[in-house]
Amino acid sequence: MQEMMQAAVLTGPREITVKSVPVPRLRDGDIKIKVSACGVCGSDIHMWKTGHGWSDNQGDFVMGHEFCGVVVDPGQSHFSVGERVVFWANLYCGKCDMCRSGQEQLCRQVNGTNYIGFVTNGAYCQYYVGPAVNAYPLPDAVSDVAAALIDPLMVAYHAVIKSGLKMHDKVLVVGSGIIGQLIGGLAKKAGASVLALSKVNDRKIAKAKEIGDFDCYLDGNDPERAKRMYELSRGGFDIAFEVVGAEDALSTCIDGAKPGGTIVAIGNSIAPKVGFELNRLVLHEIRLLGSVSCTEKEFRETIDLIANATIDPEKYVTDVLPLDQLQHAFERLTSKTDPVLKLVIKP
Ligand SMILES: [Zn+2]
Ligand SMILES: [Zn+2]
Repeated sequence: MQEMMQAAVLTGPREITVKSVPVPRLRDGDIKIKVSACGVCGSDIHMWKTGHGWSDNQGDFVMGHEFCGVVVDPGQSHFSVGERVVFWANLYCGKCDMCRSGQEQLCRQVNGTNYIGFVTNGAYCQYYVGPAVNAYPLPDAVSDVAAALIDPLMVAYHAVIKSGLKMHDKVLVVGSGIIGQLIGGLAKKAGASVLALSKVNDRKIAKAKEIGDFDCYLDGNDPERAKRMYELSRGGFDIAFEVVGAEDALSTCIDGAKPGGTIVAIGNSIAPKVGFELNRLVLHEIRLLGSVSCTEKEFRETIDLIANATIDPEKYVTDVLPLDQLQHAFERLTSKTDPVLKLVIKP
């Protein structure tokens, strides 16, 4: 008899249906976990809107890549039944030159697009079966809900490391979503002096204000924004993080960066091309860097950052919801009025 479970299946554009599906069988190298928590990610929204995942695989597709759980079948792995684990959704080959140089996020074979919950089924369900090599033990000090935020936190952590942020640097974050706010939290810890958040509305900033890491909030639509940023940072920001993936957000970074400053681009653009003022970049010798996911080493360090209380990602969570509320979660995340920052599902 095939074992069955409840799963939140993407059944069409803007349509999640909770239904009974077979629990996948373990293949070589897999472990099976009972899912404890799974974060709802902004990148899930694109798939939710279109009604399908990234692979051509037909059949029930289940998203969910920010998850942890308890091992129920360790397969051939070193894990034991009952152990708490978190999955790194970033798949990689481990053999190519990028992987061998410790840059697994740039793996040649997977090309930055091969993530659990995008190309393979994810964890908006009761049981997840997947590669043991992507599972990591969770310290007791990291709660299930905090573990569901390791994914966005690792993205923020990698971006801050790439930026080369030093004590006293003036830092601009453009974008008020969860990753922008986590970057703010880490930048503050790393010694940012002036820390500014540029946003286009106030919908998501209640948490940021509650936590209080940002020194000031800027209006991205202000026609005088370049002047305002110049005055506020007394000559420009050393580092600007673009966490939206849009032309205007990149322009805000270019307006805000000081000569010789650094822009780190993290936001994924929906538009195939984004224009920007090349001459300002050239003549002011501004460095523009991309940043995606993190290295395998940084993933382990991200778990540590929470375990050692460097940052508490639970503070950024708006609500924890059951599996049958996933559809509602997407409706809230795409609403123009709901002040939601981060939602976590507990299947
Ligand atoms: Zn994510
Ligand atoms: Zn590789």
